[in-house]
Amino acid sequence: MRIVLVGPPGAGKGTQAAFLAENLSIPHISTGDLFRANISQGTPLGKQAQEYMRAGQLVPDEVTIGMAKDRMSAPDAESGFLLDGFPRNLAQAQALDGALKEEGQQLDAVLDLEVPEDEVVKRIAGRRICRADSSHVFHVEYSAPKQDGVCDVCGGELYQRDDDREETVRKRLAVYHSETEPIIDHYRAQGLVTTISALGEVAEVTARAMRALGRD
Ligand code: AMP
Repeated sequence: MRIVLVGPPGAGKGTQAAFLAENLSIPHISTGDLFRANISQGTPLGKQAQEYMRAGQLVPDEVTIGMAKDRMSAPDAESGFLLDGFPRNLAQAQALDGALKEEGQQLDAVLDLEVPEDEVVKRIAGRRICRADSSHVFHVEYSAPKQDGVCDVCGGELYQRDDDREETVRKRLAVYHSETEPIIDHYRAQGLVTTISALGEVAEVTARAMRALGRD
């Protein structure tokens, strides 16, 4: 299956993407994670992306589209993938459509995670992520780790993302509304969009998503 996951920052895309990708046996491709890996390795691509990310802005398409296409053409993504955080604007959606068409492929579904805006800010401000594995996500209030600052799953250090500060979150939300939401209509016109609520327990949302994909 080839799936795109969309939703505002804080909808739980990363968490859901990790579970869904595992259930569906397809790779989870997160452009945010790819950028963060490049930043921590100090690559030229990471250096290009860093300032945009810190400001809550989109990294330019020239950089992002090439990186996403490279990852999608890796052998493990041959028979499917779950895209998390890409595409994030119409130009990226069109580039993805074009790349898939060239390969004679198409998307199977676009899953739109819906969450009220005040909930988004609460979720993100308390979010803590494991340095060793970004799919290990905690929240200081909603899913606190047993020991402060330490990942329950692997013992890695938990940290707050640079761009998870409230002021940057508001900027990221504004960018989501103006740049990313239009891709939902783009895909709706192709009959691909299913919207589900991202409220509730993580496992409940995963079950909802699997049902929406016809895989329950
Ligand atoms: P995420 O981890 O998906 O929340 O992404 C974190 C940040 O990485 C975003 O706020 C952007 O600055 C950058 N980013 C991730 N994916 C993209 C994309 N598809 N296009 C442009 N910038 C992106």
